[in-house]
Amino acid sequence: SPSQGYYTRRGGVGESGDFITSPEISQVFGELIGIWYISEWMAMGKPNTFQLVELGPGRGTLMEDILRVFKQLASVLSKCDVSVHLVEVSPKLSEIQAVMLTGRKLQANPEDEPAYMKGISKTGIPIFWYRDIQDVPPGYSFYLAHEFFDALPIHKFQRTEKGWCEVLVDIDPAVPDQLRFVLSPSRTPATQNFIQPEETRDHVEVCPEAGVIVQRLASRIEKDGGAALVADYGHDGTKTDTFRGFRNHKLHDVLSAPGTADLTADVDFSYLRKMAQGKTATLGPIKQREFLKNMGIDLRLQMLLQNSGDTATREQLLHSYDMLMNPEKMGDCFNFFALLPHHRLVHPDKKDKPELKSPLPPVAGFNELLLK
Ligand code: SAH
Repeated sequence: SPSQGYYTRRGGVGESGDFITSPEISQVFGELIGIWYISEWMAMGKPNTFQLVELGPGRGTLMEDILRVFKQLASVLSKCDVSVHLVEVSPKLSEIQAVMLTGRKLQANPEDEPAYMKGISKTGIPIFWYRDIQDVPPGYSFYLAHEFFDALPIHKFQRTEKGWCEVLVDIDPAVPDQLRFVLSPSRTPATQNFIQPEETRDHVEVCPEAGVIVQRLASRIEKDGGAALVADYGHDGTKTDTFRGFRNHKLHDVLSAPGTADLTADVDFSYLRKMAQGKTATLGPIKQREFLKNMGIDLRLQMLLQNSGDTATREQLLHSYDMLMNPEKMGDCFNFFALLPHHRLVHPDKKDKPELKSPLPPVAGFNELLLK
């Protein structure tokens, strides 16, 4: 809801909010993602301009860490014209992002401009804000969606003796201000449109909005070039009932006090892959701990440990490494997934003259990072 929805009203990312995310835990997370974009930019022949587009940037911490890496590697990126494009619906979070990234509050743009706000990052890069991915200008772009797709609304379905039914929300007739789940008495437009004919699970959650956004990303990458990196907790089409709520870092009944808690469902990466419709190649999902290991997190940790004098900082570094990497914490349940142009993985004319082609560089994170 644009007026009563959680992200437009509250949107509590961070320690003082309702849930905590990897970029809020450790700067290393965003730094390694920054390296991923530079490595892909190099592998794609160093185009002289790119847009970095982030969906749902939260507090802006992840982008801040990425832009710091871009600044540190300014000599590598020196001839490249980079701009940042943030897709954010929350007025409160966009204000926090502006202060984080530009160091100040920003005025709203005139209504007739596609971006509702614009500014310049502390490192000198232009930043634009939009409510919808469709407002982002076309052009060679790298996309980022971290804990974005899990925040979008889902439909829930249950297989019954009568066939597929939809799980709907109703007012409990016994307790008037309480909501309850009910099963639709028969098929609904959603059961008819959103369930794959080959579905084998008995309970499914489908996020059509995520499907539409992935279709848009895949079309844009096919047409203008670039890549998308998606990181979220999720599964590859195996899980069933994952819908849950969080408030003040505790599980919260999804039906009580709507609009005051973060509602989330695991991302079904098999659905995202299907929705790319072959317009791009896809890689993953690969577990967060494997992705970060491939990106060189161990080396980065060693460097930070060597450079930090005090015990408290060293303990903090080790603690945040454990949060990100431990399979019992975020290491296994978070996954990375990428959309890449087909030619990034297979030479277009490989079949004709395989001997003339040098091998394509492996995609970092999904393979070990090789920066040349
Ligand atoms: N990526 C951040 C924040 C994740 S929370 C991090 O990892 O810390 C989800 C983010 O998506 C928030 O910024 C929220 O305001 C935004 N969001 C939620 N629904 C959205 C929508 N429909 N369109 C654009 N942004 C949305």
